[in-house]
Amino acid sequence: MAARFPSTIAAWRQALEAKPRHNLPSLLANLASAIDRCNPGLNCYIDWDGGEVQKALGGIDPEPRPGAGPLEGVPIGIKDVLNVKDQPCHCASRILEGYISPYDATVVARLRRAGAIPLGRLNMDEFAMGSTNENSAYGPVRNPWNKDHVAGGSSGGAAAAVAAGVAVAALGTDTGGSIRQPAAFCGCVGLKPSYGRVSRYGLTAFASSLDQVGPVTRTVADAATLLQCIAGRDPLDTTSLDVPVPDYTAALGSELGGLKLGLPAEYFADGVDPEVTRAVRAAIDECRRLGAEIIEVQLPHTRYAVATYYIIATAEASANLARFDGVRYGARVAGQDPLDSYQRTRATYFGPEVKRRIILGTYVLSSGYHDAYYLRAQKVRTLIRQDFERVFDQCDALLTPVAPTTAYRLGERIDDPLQMYLGDIFTVTANLAGICGLSVPCGFSTTGLPIGLQILGPALREATILQIGHAYEQATNWSAQHPPHGREAIQS
Ligand code: GLN
Repeated sequence: MAARFPSTIAAWRQALEAKPRHNLPSLLANLASAIDRCNPGLNCYIDWDGGEVQKALGGIDPEPRPGAGPLEGVPIGIKDVLNVKDQPCHCASRILEGYISPYDATVVARLRRAGAIPLGRLNMDEFAMGSTNENSAYGPVRNPWNKDHVAGGSSGGAAAAVAAGVAVAALGTDTGGSIRQPAAFCGCVGLKPSYGRVSRYGLTAFASSLDQVGPVTRTVADAATLLQCIAGRDPLDTTSLDVPVPDYTAALGSELGGLKLGLPAEYFADGVDPEVTRAVRAAIDECRRLGAEIIEVQLPHTRYAVATYYIIATAEASANLARFDGVRYGARVAGQDPLDSYQRTRATYFGPEVKRRIILGTYVLSSGYHDAYYLRAQKVRTLIRQDFERVFDQCDALLTPVAPTTAYRLGERIDDPLQMYLGDIFTVTANLAGICGLSVPCGFSTTGLPIGLQILGPALREATILQIGHAYEQATNWSAQHPPHGREAIQS
């Protein structure tokens, strides 16, 4: 039986500070042994061999300096799309086989500055394109609540690892829901910050006007701690905003009095799994009980969101992925001339979903179609943003489901990309509007799969949605539950 170790940032810090016998090397060794046991079944870490922990152990002071930084001695799992110096960054794609990052992403540098140890490459959909983590060149991630089901995507490895207790916390990325949806599918907390709140420097770009880095954690308080460390202006990313970073943990309390929360009618329409609606409605009642006023609001352009997102995201992806030509990064197939080599490299090493997106994106940008698709999508994006501006005049935040269903069965949607895309309806809107969104566990289906409550807030109002999520979490005990295929189960 493996020894126990704390499963939240707060508890890990406490263990380091309060109990000298829980020193850092033994905590890390226990974490490594839990990953060794769980990873073969879940596949949440790519290429896990435990060597990283040995390396981390070699590089750290065996006598940690408690109190030195808010994350001193805390290992944080990193999604395979973020660059960590001297580590591979595959983006779960074969085209980046052999690539080693020469630098740290700004978020990783900021974690290190806070004392954290970046640990492990977390599995994901190839180049963050997908909703199930089945588009990974390293195989799908399995859901720790039921291994026949997906973990969600694209940050499926991050969510599964945190839910299973084999990552204390993780950094994921969210372009259209990739933090919030897997967090909901796996029963953990996921925060997509507002566009510009967190630097994207060192994040391999998928869709640059939509991408954001954010925390995947067990608790809302941990999400606040991580955001605190990574947020703020970065001269290396001109889209990062030069506005002060508030104290996110100071806002956390147990009451919601004085807050007005909106329910967008379009997010409670037909087509949502009744079990999801029931759990989210119960969460809304709980927020009312905690003192919030609940009102009905409308976001009329929601129905165009999936189409708009899949035009803008693919257009940007087709441009961003042009850099993978076999010359500058990773794998390469030699050809008769440079063009032949580019073509062979891309045809051989990109997976099918990435190719589909590049083709779609190239099409919507091509002359003759640019105005009908790309330009029109940009106009609809403005209407979607204005919808949110209007409702945020009436209320402080919105409560919605994260996804219309619980986690799909493995393979259930892989042959039907359109159905897969439609499942993103409740998450893509926040990215299109640039606002922030939090996913918090709010119950289980009758078959034992987690359900997530989404809390959407105006741009840069992360403190408000964290406050709501925390108060709700404290009033319920969903976050305290452990999945049957996680560390707890294996140890007991
Ligand atoms: N599921 C969405 C997509 O496939 C979102 C992905 C993401 O947020 N990275 O594009």
